[in-house]
Amino acid sequence: MKNILFIAPPAAGKGTQSSLIEKEYHLPHISTGDLLRNASVEDSELGSYIREILSSGALVRDDIIYDLLKKRITEADCQQGYILDGFPRNVEQAEKYDEMLQELKQQLGYVIVLEIPENILAKRVTGRRICENCGAVYNLNTETEQPQQESTCDRCQGRLLQRNDDNIESFRHRYQVYMEKTKPLLDYYRQKGVLYVINGEGTVEEVHQRILAVLKGEAKHD
Ligand code: AMP
Repeated sequence: MKNILFIAPPAAGKGTQSSLIEKEYHLPHISTGDLLRNASVEDSELGSYIREILSSGALVRDDIIYDLLKKRITEADCQQGYILDGFPRNVEQAEKYDEMLQELKQQLGYVIVLEIPENILAKRVTGRRICENCGAVYNLNTETEQPQQESTCDRCQGRLLQRNDDNIESFRHRYQVYMEKTKPLLDYYRQKGVLYVINGEGTVEEVHQRILAVLKGEAKHD
């Protein structure tokens, strides 16, 4: 299976969609946001630097990301392909990633972009809740994604928490960073003939079906 790379603005559903593909295709799901959130709890200078950047909504320094990512994609479970969610975030990272792939003799695979208008994202971001135990994602502002009880996971009864950066101020900053730094990647990947732009509006299942069409070779690249 080829690698799958998701590019999307904050709260577009790339984590949720990656998890569905992970189950269906048995590929590991690598989220650079999750790698950073794990690293941020460390009681060190690096941990406190990452904590500060994450809560501001800015991008973490490229060299830190490269170290975390390279370590992860060279692990044994990634050798048959993986799903990358949240990387690259700018053209420099994309160029560095091309170098890494060459060195590791891996293929780029599919680059899938989820497109959603900003006003819908802003509504989603404030409603997002994540189970601290199993990582299941819910949304209080989206009828089809609400948990049965506001603060309890339907699957494992774990506590539902809100991410520190899921507030409207941090969202505005993250969205601006996406438009300025990440969106130019669409041209970068379009030129390589690997780009698939998907409508990210609708239910989780509707978007999932659009992604499956790409993976089954039923969609044309941009
Ligand atoms: P995400 O979980 O993808 O929404 O990412 C959460 C936050 O982690 C972002 O707002 C950035 O601060 C940081 N982050 C995640 N991926 C990257 C990356 N590839 N480069 C720099 N910062 C990142």
